[in-house]
Amino acid sequence: MVSLSLMLYGGLVISVLLLFKKMSNVKSPFFKIGYFLYSRTRIGQYYFQRELSKAKQKFEHGHSVTQDTQFDGLKIHPIPMSEDNYAYLVIDQKNDVSVLVDPADPEVVQEHIDKEKATPSAILTTHKHWDHSGGNSEFKRRYRDILIYGGAMDSIPAVTNPVADGDNIEVGSLRFRVKFTPGHTVGHVVYILDGSPFNCPNSLFSGDHLFISGCGRMFEGPPTTMLRSLDSLLELSDCTLVWPGHEYARDNLEFSSHLEPDNEEIKEKLARVLQLRQSRACTAPSNMGEEKKLNPFLRTSEEKMLQILGFEQKPTVEENFAVRAKALAEIRERKDKFKYKL
Ligand SMILES: [Zn+2]
Repeated sequence: MVSLSLMLYGGLVISVLLLFKKMSNVKSPFFKIGYFLYSRTRIGQYYFQRELSKAKQKFEHGHSVTQDTQFDGLKIHPIPMSEDNYAYLVIDQKNDVSVLVDPADPEVVQEHIDKEKATPSAILTTHKHWDHSGGNSEFKRRYRDILIYGGAMDSIPAVTNPVADGDNIEVGSLRFRVKFTPGHTVGHVVYILDGSPFNCPNSLFSGDHLFISGCGRMFEGPPTTMLRSLDSLLELSDCTLVWPGHEYARDNLEFSSHLEPDNEEIKEKLARVLQLRQSRACTAPSNMGEEKKLNPFLRTSEEKMLQILGFEQKPTVEENFAVRAKALAEIRERKDKFKYKL
């Protein structure tokens, strides 16, 4: 009797979680309950384990085919996990040290670590969601000395080194700068790898803050918070490589091209991405130059973007930020509705 009610309760909870993931209205009470269970309780972890096994049945060798990006003594190795996530193994080959970014599936990530004969010294966690932080405790068990970094505001599992905006992390010649980017979660951070020791561009590991032509959903903050966090990325140089937490480029570019059908550069990028996805190739990295130019979520300061969204009048200097935040919310809403029409 007890086990029957447990099963019924478990089934009900899983149904709530399945439904909340598909909902576009983050303000509805139903969404809030599902999100709370997912992000704050062990039920969320259980749900994530279930997602991992489903994805393994669906994709025998991962959702995408990835390639290493090799520079002078630096290797960036993307690892496809779950339905559409990426972890990254970043290797400083001269000093033979490495760092993992968001290694949520220990089983899959370990295969890649072993193949590379690496011993990771640190984990950089972008935010608390299980599909990014779900491997931390297991890796801490496997590598006792591993340091686990993550935003101090985001209750990251097994964190050993909570970080804040402007902090620096050094492992061999790998030097990362932390940028605090709340909006998707209250404590989301991104990591910027300094390319200069390797004579290459910097790399942004953007988690669920910035995607190729998209940005994360605003689960834990108003559009003004997300806008500030997105604006803070505009200082990054155009050549900065962008390594996002999910393979969302196709979906996002389909939307961008629907939003702005006369933009030839978006069409070209969509064509490139469609070509890559035909063979399930990974679409990362992008670069900040392309994102500043094509990603609608980074372009709310453009008059053209405001017109597309139906904002008739050019905002005054005083109202500019508030109008841009409204524009960001409008793009988000249109994107969420568009996705579920596909
Ligand atoms: Zn997330």
